[in-house]
Amino acid sequence: MNHLLEIAYLLGSISFVLGLKVMGKPDTARKGNLIAAAGMGIAVAGTLFLSPEGFRLIPNLGLILGAILFGVVVGTLMAKRVQMTAMPEMVSLFNGMGGLCAALISIIEWKDILHHTSPETLPLTHYLPVIAGLIIGTVSFTGSMIAWGKLNGKIGDFRFSGQQFINAILLIAILAASYLNYSGMEASLTEPSIWFYATLGLSVIYGLFFVFPIGGADMPVVISLLNSFTGVAAACGGFLYHNNVMLMGGVLVGSAGTILTVVMCKAMNRSLMNVLIGLAGSSGGGAGKAVTGSVREVQATDVAIMMKYASKVIIVPGYGLAVAQAQHICHELENLLEAEGVTVKYAIHPVAGRMPGHMNVLLAESNVSYDKLIEMEHINPEFATTDAVLIVGANDVVNPAAKTDPTSPIYGMPILDVDQSKQVIVLKRSMKSGYAGIENELFFNAKCGMLFGDAKESLQKLVNEIKTL
Ligand code: NDP
Repeated sequence: MNHLLEIAYLLGSISFVLGLKVMGKPDTARKGNLIAAAGMGIAVAGTLFLSPEGFRLIPNLGLILGAILFGVVVGTLMAKRVQMTAMPEMVSLFNGMGGLCAALISIIEWKDILHHTSPETLPLTHYLPVIAGLIIGTVSFTGSMIAWGKLNGKIGDFRFSGQQFINAILLIAILAASYLNYSGMEASLTEPSIWFYATLGLSVIYGLFFVFPIGGADMPVVISLLNSFTGVAAACGGFLYHNNVMLMGGVLVGSAGTILTVVMCKAMNRSLMNVLIGLAGSSGGGAGKAVTGSVREVQATDVAIMMKYASKVIIVPGYGLAVAQAQHICHELENLLEAEGVTVKYAIHPVAGRMPGHMNVLLAESNVSYDKLIEMEHINPEFATTDAVLIVGANDVVNPAAKTDPTSPIYGMPILDVDQSKQVIVLKRSMKSGYAGIENELFFNAKCGMLFGDAKESLQKLVNEIKTL
């Protein structure tokens, strides 16, 4: 009987690992999520109803169940109502809540330690998870809130000269304050000392300064990094409570977030160190070179003919596909072309849309076969043998300035080499810029034709035209 709790935690841990593995492929991702959620359910039930001695009812059960119910209702409603385009904001918000939880655990535990442990007997190894959970959780909370505000457009970029220097000083000050809090513990009696609150306050400021200057192409990197911070902060809680499943969950989130951050940094040619000291997003700094030339506007009839008689077409989905909710009609166009003997593939840029995997999720919704979604490094060599590229609401991820203009804010970000193909057609509503706020010289390329209009309507026109040809 007294091993039941450990078994529940073991089952929880195994299902987290298994869930993560199964989530690795788009077609099994939903199942992976369910496996991990079931594991979390087992771990929570174990915590509420089991102890090393056997069955028990945890104190404050009513309050805890009430809070869980509240969280379930709010979380479910938000997840059901959220637009696909607002998903990154929601991820940021939820991630921030995780960071806040970890910080609150540290605050409560520190007060408890001060009441029950004599300063001489508190080992450093017990102090470290408390203070690390406080610092990392707080940075993750405030940083995620700023990221949330920036993604939904309520907060703009904010930079001042010497910001990286100030960030570095802040980091040192946080470490110094947390050391002084530990070394001056005897004097603080039962209430946290000024140094504890200084650590908390400085972490709040660091979280703000860390994310404020970041913008444009670097936002996904920072969101994934904050995600890993929350994982590490939760793992600190696992150490603190000797709770294996919490430790395992935190470590998995922390390491998965870190791996994703590194992969994204590579995909965008950013150094992780620059992101860490708040340099990201400021590289290049300027708005890029002004682009001159004329734009060729095309009509749906001409594009339909070009597509129908092509032998290979690559569709490049971007944020505009999500805005227009054009994924279903896009799939219909793909089926129509394939029925005509045209080979159709999708080129997936790692940061197309507003969150990692945005395009995969969107296209999966309309049952596009996963083997047609080709990652950037595999599709790029194929453009040279492609008759027509159809860009549906993408902009930054096909902007040649990333390769050619060192003054551009997206300089260094790998892009889809669409200009290698014979023809390029862009579906967008106007000549407005994309997320990074810069002009795109691709639109002025002689190979490029612009089909202006809402992506869903333009694709519908193409489908109608192809049917009548
Ligand atoms: P962009 O944001 O660069 O461009 C999207 C384009 O879609 C716009 O130029 C817009 O032009 C067009 N558009 C918008 N609505 C519609 C519509 N209804 N119909 C047709 N076109 C439409 O998108 P990309 O996917 O190319 O690039 C993503 C950008 O977002 C990158 O800079 C990336 O760094 C950033 N980002 C990515 C995140 C991620 O994790 N994926 C997270 C945060 C940021 P118009 O208004 O003229 O129609």
